Amino acid sequence: MPKNLFGYTLPALTEEMVSLGESKYRSKQLFSWIYQKRVFDFDAMTDISKSFREVLKRDYCLDLPKIVTKQESEDGTVKLLLEMEDGAKVETVLMPYDYGDSICVSSQVGCNMGCRFCASGILKKDRNLTAAEIMGQVMVMNGILAPLGRTITHVVVMGTGEPFDNYDNVISFVKTVNEQFGLAVGARHITVSTCGLCPGIRKYGKEGLQINLAISLHAPNDEVRKQIMPVSGAYPMPELMDAIREYQKDAGRRVTFEYIMLKGLNDSLAQANELADLIHDNEIFAYVNLIPYNEVKEKPYKRTEYPAIKAFSDVLMKRGINSTVRKEFGGDIDAACGQLRVKYVKGGNHAS
Ligand code: SAH
Repeated sequence: MPKNLFGYTLPALTEEMVSLGESKYRSKQLFSWIYQKRVFDFDAMTDISKSFREVLKRDYCLDLPKIVTKQESEDGTVKLLLEMEDGAKVETVLMPYDYGDSICVSSQVGCNMGCRFCASGILKKDRNLTAAEIMGQVMVMNGILAPLGRTITHVVVMGTGEPFDNYDNVISFVKTVNEQFGLAVGARHITVSTCGLCPGIRKYGKEGLQINLAISLHAPNDEVRKQIMPVSGAYPMPELMDAIREYQKDAGRRVTFEYIMLKGLNDSLAQANELADLIHDNEIFAYVNLIPYNEVKEKPYKRTEYPAIKAFSDVLMKRGINSTVRKEFGGDIDAACGQLRVKYVKGGNHAS
């Protein structure tokens, strides 16, 4: 099986080139062809010797996922359903913010975390995505943006799957996104989001990366969190806070708490105060991203109305915690996480 170059970090590719008797600059040349020039045909890589191009053609590939469906929203959101080599399908979303083009990539095919409100988890995990398959999502989206003179400037690993349940592949991917000879996206423009797998959080802090960490908290205490996130059974609040403190000590970075507002469940002002207490008592340097819930047909949860979200946010701000309400995209195109794939896979392969 040819090895997909999109799955390599620069140091890993350098090591491999050297082991083949090539100069160590070969990897930088290859990175520059594929990530900067977007040339995926080995024959066109003219500064690489013809004989080594033959080796590359035989043993390596630059395969990308295939686009199964492409939905475009009035607000410019693009949602792709992509198919991998083995037929596995994943969702990828482009969100055109005013500060740049942000992509939300999937890290697994399905998800085993079982968060009750989430559409992605309706289909259990089939397998991890490889680093090349995660990168493939960005490369395909950049292929759509390139003719428009645009390119991905922000990357969030917040699509289907739990990144820290596929730790090595996700880290390899974000390193290449950040790599100056790779996609050269600034570390502060990259975010990995976890539902709270503590060993992953601790390890991530020791990577020496300046990449953002977001934690899906969604509750001010274990009592509420247990109702919606089974992961809190394995990693209850005290352990989660401890892991985050350790991450902060190692990485020296502020974390983002994601908090989906679910009507009547976690959205009262008393709970906003409880959340502020949790953050202060544990000495966490955090910013809270309040997320309007995208209602999912198969789930009983309802979204909190905007005025109540704003009031919740005001309490946090008054308590000295920065908080914003997440901008919504693609309301007209199955925007809620995992909805498109669920519809497709469950609906006998019809995308609409
Ligand atoms: N497993 C990771 C990343 C994927 S989920 C994690 O849990 O963080 C990315 C974010 O989308 C999480 O905060 C998740 O809780 C949120 N999310 C899932 N379903 C949603 C929905 N229907 N509406 C709004 N946010 C949702």
